Amino acid sequence: MDDRTFVIVGAGLAGAKAAETLREEGFEGRVVLIGDEDEQPYERPPLSKEYMRGESEREKTHVHGDGFYDEHKIEFLRGERAKSIDTNASTLTLDGGRTENYDSLLIATGAEPRRLDAVEGGVYLRSLRDADALREQIGSGKHVAIVGAGWIGSEIAASARQMGADVTLIEMAEVPLERVLGRKLGAFYRDVHVSQGVNFLGNSGIDALEGLGADLVLVGIGVAPRIELAELAGLEVDNGIKVDAALRTSAPNVFAAGDVANAWHPLLERQVRVEHWANALNQGPAAARSMLGQDVSYDRVPYFFSDQYDVGMEYSGLADANDEVVIRGDLDGREFIAFWMRDGRVQAGMNVNVWDVTDPIQALIRSKATVDPQRLASTDESLEQIAEDAVAHAA
Ligand SMILES: Cc1cc2nc3c(=O)[nH]c(=O)nc-3n(C[C@H](O)[C@H](O)[C@H](O)COP(=O)(O)OP(=O)(O)OC[C@H]3O[C@@H](n4cnc5c(N)ncnc54)[C@H](O)[C@@H]3O)c2cc1C
Repeated sequence: MDDRTFVIVGAGLAGAKAAETLREEGFEGRVVLIGDEDEQPYERPPLSKEYMRGESEREKTHVHGDGFYDEHKIEFLRGERAKSIDTNASTLTLDGGRTENYDSLLIATGAEPRRLDAVEGGVYLRSLRDADALREQIGSGKHVAIVGAGWIGSEIAASARQMGADVTLIEMAEVPLERVLGRKLGAFYRDVHVSQGVNFLGNSGIDALEGLGADLVLVGIGVAPRIELAELAGLEVDNGIKVDAALRTSAPNVFAAGDVANAWHPLLERQVRVEHWANALNQGPAAARSMLGQDVSYDRVPYFFSDQYDVGMEYSGLADANDEVVIRGDLDGREFIAFWMRDGRVQAGMNVNVWDVTDPIQALIRSKATVDPQRLASTDESLEQIAEDAVAHAA
């Protein structure tokens, strides 16, 4: 029997998958999973999509089925907040005073919405509870104003329209998603929303709320990593908890994963913190393996997806909004792949209503090979062929 205790703070996707992986890898010591929400671990993407619209059940958001944590002898402390960590004594203390000694600790505390106090009565969407409230409040004939046209704001706009609400989407930049996608692709999303009847106000601040007479104002201006615990414990923090490629923090036997972790990325050769479902899904298990002493170097290409009306997309990589954009396919017909290129190399690719192309897109990014943009733009050759040549060229 193993007498070690592994503690995981944060029972979101990253934390829950880490707990699962510890057992899967044969760890027989104690696994303590601490979550401050009064819910079992769940996935957040449905909250702005089918769950918010009332099209799917609560259980479908759960990371694991009922009974999973008991069956796997995972001590799930539900509705408990971790208050402090003492990295010298290797202890963690909960709000109620209970203290756990740990042999290894994973911090997976995620992120929380940035607040805009100037918007009185503004609501936010992060949790199931928030989504339940929105489900109640958004309905046919209601006027919903959304401040911020990032991914969450844009998805809520789409869902609210689908729920029959009038929607005004207010954004400081000229077009939605400009910071991530740049002007051209942002304009694509603006046109999608406008064609669905959204009143889009670009280059606008919260003054635009005046006179709108909105029944509900939702604020979606991004999230901030939940670093309080780490900061208090003296861990190195810089745009999240700084970790190396093995997801180790600056303190011995303390790891971080998911939205809260700013990890050294061996492929991209810089620190990377992303707020993506797939990152939580894969980094949690990677951190668990690292806790077990396995050789881990987390180098997955960042990946996320978004669904708005009948426009589905997947995005791989990490581009700068100023990178050169190359379009392959039919932008107006809403079936295309956009590539972001820098110095002739593919930094990121976004496929919109085109599927099963993530592998070649990621192979192009990984290869770091120069690619002729005209080859990418033309559909004469398959993407697989172009990726194969890029990989061969790089080898
Ligand atoms: C509405 C919505 C829609 C999204 N849609 C998409 C999408 O379409 N595609 C995509 O790629 N990503 C999407 N995301 C992002 C994705 O959900 C996140 O990247 C993912 O949830 C990160 O998981 P995590 O486990 O790192 O953190 P979280 O999910 O934030 O979980 C962290 C948990 O830790 C708890 N916690 C924090 N501090 C403490 C403490 N001191 N003690 C105890 N518990 C604590 C938190 O309450 C939370 O339950 C969406 C997010 C939201 C909110």
